[in-house]
Amino acid sequence: MAKELARAFTTAILDWYRNNKRDLPWRRTRDPYKIWVSEVMLQQTTVKAVLQYYKKWLKQYPSVQSLAEAEQEDVLKAWQGLGYYGRVRNLHKTAKIIVNDFNARIPNSPEDLKKLPGFGPYTIGAVLSIAYDIRNPIVDANIRRIFMRLLAVRGKAVQGMDRHILPTIDRLVPQRYPGDFNQGLMELGALICRSREPLCNQCPVKGHCKAFEKGIQEVIPQPKTVLLKKVRAVLAIIRGSKGALLMQRRPPTGLLAGMWEFPGGKIKTGESPQKALEREIREELGIRVVVGKKVCDVVHYYTKFKVFLNVFECKSIGELKARSNLRWIKTQEFTRCPMPSGSAKIVNILKPKSTK
Ligand code: SF4
Repeated sequence: MAKELARAFTTAILDWYRNNKRDLPWRRTRDPYKIWVSEVMLQQTTVKAVLQYYKKWLKQYPSVQSLAEAEQEDVLKAWQGLGYYGRVRNLHKTAKIIVNDFNARIPNSPEDLKKLPGFGPYTIGAVLSIAYDIRNPIVDANIRRIFMRLLAVRGKAVQGMDRHILPTIDRLVPQRYPGDFNQGLMELGALICRSREPLCNQCPVKGHCKAFEKGIQEVIPQPKTVLLKKVRAVLAIIRGSKGALLMQRRPPTGLLAGMWEFPGGKIKTGESPQKALEREIREELGIRVVVGKKVCDVVHYYTKFKVFLNVFECKSIGELKARSNLRWIKTQEFTRCPMPSGSAKIVNILKPKSTK
């Protein structure tokens, strides 16, 4: 893009953004901590979902210091439902590093930010440009789609595409208002250059768009085919005294690390749900159970798989040995206990029964 055209493009994005941006809470602040939190929450999550969490989070953890001092279990609980829990574990870990090594100030150099857990190129660029006005190009799903269309780059919107579009984006980010420019692009992707049915007639940069010129904007990018692996699993509701339910803590690393869930596991090929539950409880908890009536079926989606959970009432036979990863949890304590969305759905189903 020639220099003059590039300037016209940048001005068009900035003007459009100032006149059309949604009034979102993280756009009313320049506090690097608050901007960092919003950017981490917004990764792979919709604005609508984040809105419910963001204000509550800042009330609970108004500063990097307060987050650094929090217990991991409380932090996980505050995040419960947003998914992709690796993000919040990094947020917590990084808050501690920032307090210890950077005097509780979010660094403003890419070199320092690069060393912090969870700070990849996108988060670095977003924090530097939005909070500190430092020129930095960023690519998220919206920006990738916009530039693939602007440059008429065919293919799937995968990270590998960035080498075709990043040099152009880098040339366009202005010295003044780089944060507004980056947010303007993201907003354009959310409101106008949408993945389906882009509103090209309302687009401030349609005059620069090769896909629009050729009429191929609807086929760029090529849709991804997502094949979700199906997993069948069983979970046990084991009741203790005073309505407490037995919960098991997941290992400290890996998927949903450190969260509390109902005990159980995967159903092997050819196994009935009841047999699978008896086996899983024997292997995991070292006790025998009598599997009773079905409580519910719950379906839950993760990024790469779809889990069908079969949930049964179970009666334990034999004494359960105390372990740090097992806890009897009463209904009223569930609000403080971080759990995966599948188990949280089951708690909601059980609630009326448990509170009787
Ligand atoms: Fe996207 Fe259409 Fe604008 Fe091109 S003209 S950038 S396809 S909204």
